[in-house]
Amino acid sequence: MSQDRRRTWIPTLGTSIRWRLTFATAIPVLIVLTVAGALLVKETRERYAQVARERAWTHLAPLAVPCARAMAVHALDRLDGYLAEAVNVRTEGVRLLDARIYDSLGDQVASVVAGDFALPKEGAASEDSLEVWRRQALRSDTGSWLEKPGPNGTLQLHVSVPTISALRWGTLFATFDVSGIHTEAQRTQAWMIGLILLVTLTLMFTLRLALAQMVVFPVDELARTAGSIRDGQLDARAWVPGHDELGRLARDFNAMATELETYTHSLELKVEERTAEVRRKQRELERVNDRLADAVEELERLATIDGLTGVFNRRHFDETLAFEFRRGERSPHPFCVIMIDVDHFKVYNDTNGHQEGDVALQLVAKLLGEHLRGTDFLARYGGEEFVALLLDTPKESGLRVAEGLRAAIAMADFPCGAKQPMGRVTASMGVAAWPSDARGPDEVLECADRSLYAAKRLGRNRVMGFGPAVVETEDESRGS
Ligand code: GH3
Ligand code: MG
Ligand code: MG
Repeated sequence: MSQDRRRTWIPTLGTSIRWRLTFATAIPVLIVLTVAGALLVKETRERYAQVARERAWTHLAPLAVPCARAMAVHALDRLDGYLAEAVNVRTEGVRLLDARIYDSLGDQVASVVAGDFALPKEGAASEDSLEVWRRQALRSDTGSWLEKPGPNGTLQLHVSVPTISALRWGTLFATFDVSGIHTEAQRTQAWMIGLILLVTLTLMFTLRLALAQMVVFPVDELARTAGSIRDGQLDARAWVPGHDELGRLARDFNAMATELETYTHSLELKVEERTAEVRRKQRELERVNDRLADAVEELERLATIDGLTGVFNRRHFDETLAFEFRRGERSPHPFCVIMIDVDHFKVYNDTNGHQEGDVALQLVAKLLGEHLRGTDFLARYGGEEFVALLLDTPKESGLRVAEGLRAAIAMADFPCGAKQPMGRVTASMGVAAWPSDARGPDEVLECADRSLYAAKRLGRNRVMGFGPAVVETEDESRGS
């Protein structure tokens, strides 16, 4: 607000700078022209009054001499005739209304009145300025005049001329109607006022055009260009020719716009470069992340898988068993554990070599995997031992599955199976179930293990479920 007030002292006539400048320049012009016009009008009025006096004087002066002579020879009867002649004489712009002659004592000796003119009553208004003037004129040696408004808006000029022929014999008074000259003066005044107004308007219009060309157009152009740049059109430039302040301002403005455009362009280039670099790095990072994810996946796989047989390893089996046990505690689902041990595998190794042993172990794992369900969990427990976790499986089913596994191994063709003590590769298995045989994961494993060793003791290539038979074989073995 305060900034706006400080900006200009020119009243805000309209919002446009064009109008403000026009008024700011036209108002002084109007004042000067008005003062000059008033002086001219006054001068004109005086000039026309002078003309009226001169014409009245010219009309009356030739009458004074014959009248003076007639009075000098006391031929007063001629005076009326002279006056009557004067009424008939025509002078442009003035009309004689009445004429009177007074002698040196102030008595009227002759008079004539124009047909339509009514004489004012003698002495009716002795205080009237006309009477005062007349008394002074009677005593004056020179002619005098008095301008007074007449009836019906007319203007009358009263003129006195001393009638002198060697001596002062009297005074000739006349009243003229000078309305014609007065009207002419008024017409001239009206013309002059009209002319002043016309000149003022023409000046205003011309000034407006000139200012528009010199000031408003460049300012408009600058404002328009600034607006375009603000709207993002950075290549916009102001076209203001000339070397004046506005021209210089436009050139500086354009130079700033060019600088801004160059700077913005270089910034955009930098941003583009940086963005491309960020994208490149992002892609690189994504590739590294992918490789890392693959590596993690592989690591996770390696951490859970047995390298030789491709089934899960013991650690993962323990974790899974613990997890399933916790799950089973919340909502009981019976499960079975089958411990599997290849019979006389040391012999197999010793007879055929360690590598053949590895091949046999891979084949055992493959056979076990093929004969288990997709929901069962198979792991290498260590050496030539495997373990299977059968979820949602009661003990009887577990025993059946174990029997199927045993038969599958016993019937399979191992490359060097015939050299085994039993003429083929076999495996013994111990089965324990939760919750029927044990209360915890370690305990169920132990039960399965004890069952496995019972199977070994009873001759191998067999399945033993945990139960009294297992305990019996243990007792027997302790006894022997
Ligand atoms: P049993 O019938 O009582 O189980 O007799 P066994 O010979 O199978 O048992 P033992 O514990 O005496 O021998 C196990 C053998 O398994 C010993 C070892 O050489 C072999 N073995 C353990 N791990 C591997 C392995 O990764 N590869 C090979 N080739 N042999 C293994
Ligand atoms: Mg073993
Ligand atoms: Mg063995």
